[in-house]
Amino acid sequence: MINFHKSQPAPTSLAAQKKYDDEDVLNRLQADFHHKCYLCEKKIDTDFIVEHYQNHTTNGYTNPHKKFNWNNLMYACSYCNSRKSGESFSDILDCTNSQILIAEKISFLLTAFKNPKEKVDISTTETDPTTLNTVKLLSRIYNADCKIDSTYKPPAASRMKAAALRKLLVEAMADLTQLKDDFYDNENKPEQAIYADRIKAELQPESQFLAFKIWYVKSKPSWNDDFSPYFPTSVHR
Ligand SMILES: [Zn+2]
Repeated sequence: MINFHKSQPAPTSLAAQKKYDDEDVLNRLQADFHHKCYLCEKKIDTDFIVEHYQNHTTNGYTNPHKKFNWNNLMYACSYCNSRKSGESFSDILDCTNSQILIAEKISFLLTAFKNPKEKVDISTTETDPTTLNTVKLLSRIYNADCKIDSTYKPPAASRMKAAALRKLLVEAMADLTQLKDDFYDNENKPEQAIYADRIKAELQPESQFLAFKIWYVKSKPSWNDDFSPYFPTSVHR
């Protein structure tokens, strides 16, 4: 999860309060979220859903202000949508609020780069309930379990989908690792600039799993010195 900028004003179809997933809404969400699920950061051109950041129904009553409110609509994959709504995560950090930099509040670490059976480590030093709840949800999405709640037993389908997600994550991180190795192997050669450009592209908002890539760069001072200038200021300062 990283920050996204929600473009304004709201798509016009929302004003009628009849549909929240008309074409203009979908096109805007897709562009604003760079075709990525706002929770898992996977590219989702064939599996997207309009997700309500705050639940729009309470005890069977639909709140139209939440249901058709542009600021309450997010772009998500069906897996993350079901994890969030099925388990009632209504209070999580708002990634469209530029005052809250998600990748500074929460760390995203992948310990093993070749084995998707290894769990990812999502944690925070913050103590507020909203950040802790976000960590809990993201941990369930990527790991299908939660270190905060060890009694939780995920269904088999969730475990398999989380493992499939980690496989994509491991592949993306292996690509970045290779580029970083190529960059240092070509030190003081003209080719180095090519690898620098490719690493920069990996660190842009449209790149999949950017939160993990940022924390990978931050994990070693020399990488941080060389590549943190490429971090977009909208997601990490
Ligand atoms: Zn997702």
